Amino acid sequence: MAETSHVNGPGSGEATAPPEPRGTQRRFVDTAPLLACVHCGLCQDACPTYVETGREADSPRGRIHLVRALEEGRIEPTAEVTRHLDACLGCLACETACPSGVPYGAVIGATRPWIEDRRGAPARAARRALAALLVRPFARRIAFAPLRAVGGASLLARAARRLHGTRAGSLLAFAAAVPPARGTPALPEVVEPVGTPRGTALFLPGCVAETLFPETAHATVGLLAAAGVRVRVAHRSGCCGALPHHLGRADDGRGLLRTLLRSLGDEPVDWILPSAAGCGAHLREAGHLLAEEPAAGALAAKTIDPLALLARLGLPEPRRRIAETVAVHDPCHLAHGQGVREEPRALLRAVCEKPLVPLRESELCCGSAGTYNLTEPEMAARLLERKIDAVVASGARIVAAANPGCLVQVRSGALSRGIDVRVEHPLDLLARAHLD
Ligand code: SF4
Ligand code: SF4
Repeated sequence: MAETSHVNGPGSGEATAPPEPRGTQRRFVDTAPLLACVHCGLCQDACPTYVETGREADSPRGRIHLVRALEEGRIEPTAEVTRHLDACLGCLACETACPSGVPYGAVIGATRPWIEDRRGAPARAARRALAALLVRPFARRIAFAPLRAVGGASLLARAARRLHGTRAGSLLAFAAAVPPARGTPALPEVVEPVGTPRGTALFLPGCVAETLFPETAHATVGLLAAAGVRVRVAHRSGCCGALPHHLGRADDGRGLLRTLLRSLGDEPVDWILPSAAGCGAHLREAGHLLAEEPAAGALAAKTIDPLALLARLGLPEPRRRIAETVAVHDPCHLAHGQGVREEPRALLRAVCEKPLVPLRESELCCGSAGTYNLTEPEMAARLLERKIDAVVASGARIVAAANPGCLVQVRSGALSRGIDVRVEHPLDLLARAHLD
């Protein structure tokens, strides 16, 4: 893979910490789960980076070899080694495919902070700045304000189409895919259920989701109320720490998770609802990430994706149906991270006039993956092209994608290719059918 001008920065893989003597056990990762890998290769074809490059070092099995060799002190975190590990999307498709139960997510999660400490100072500073920007509400709003001011503009989309295949074209398409600001009011503190109450949920409005998709948050609480759920909105919960965690800033991520835990209050709730799939998968790991906090395990156990809860409780008959053909894209942290695949389909089937159309490789990452499309733009662009090829082949007029990052990514791909397809959150589609 060629070196790139992404946020990792030139020479991002250069080790800066003094190298340990060769052969020294480094103990940044528990080796026992690594030994469960029997090298069968059944994970290879599920791995987006392997199917794109065909290189063993860009596959789960190859990365497990690299991590073991690093851990045992047989190799150093050179630029090349770090490139292969950075290229991992953290999509967890390999966990789904692995018959031996290798916990790949935990392995790469333990490796990233160790790699982070050994990056060159400019790359480390860039990644720290990116994490800081995304987790602070004020900074995030300022950063996204220009995009939200021009988001959806047809001029941007036309320019993106002309520059399709270039980095400038990708950035313009991303800007055009950001939903424009509509002056959506803040969510209320509490939304009471319609009809017989069936339980209380705490809704975490999220960070990027809250900034870019406030209408989806309104759709979520409206649908939950229609299903009989009393919803409390945790306005002060802040970022759950998933984004810094995925950038290898594990301590920052744990600090944010601890702050969120403290902000939840003592009022008992039945469910905790994240607003993004990545946050949901992260919160479900809270018991491991904050093993010293007794409340973290309860938080993890109560976390459920809103689509999974709605499918479990059921919704009343829709007021209207969706006439267009719909295909479903499976966000990695919903499908592989939380095992939620059938629930959005069941809910959508109930409101669509026509059967859902299959989307080839629906579980293959679209290249969004948290901040991956910023830190690894070349591979992100390749995966997006592959996803848009599948969308075109499906013939769908609407692609349902239940994650803010996937929404912007797939929308940007559709805009830059000029294809006539809408990319929408299933919760927005359901709200149109049930609430409008
Ligand atoms: S499927 Fe599992 S056991 Fe087989 S090579 Fe991949 S990680 Fe190893
Ligand atoms: S997490 Fe995704 S990108 Fe990384 S090795 Fe597994 S399948 Fe490949």
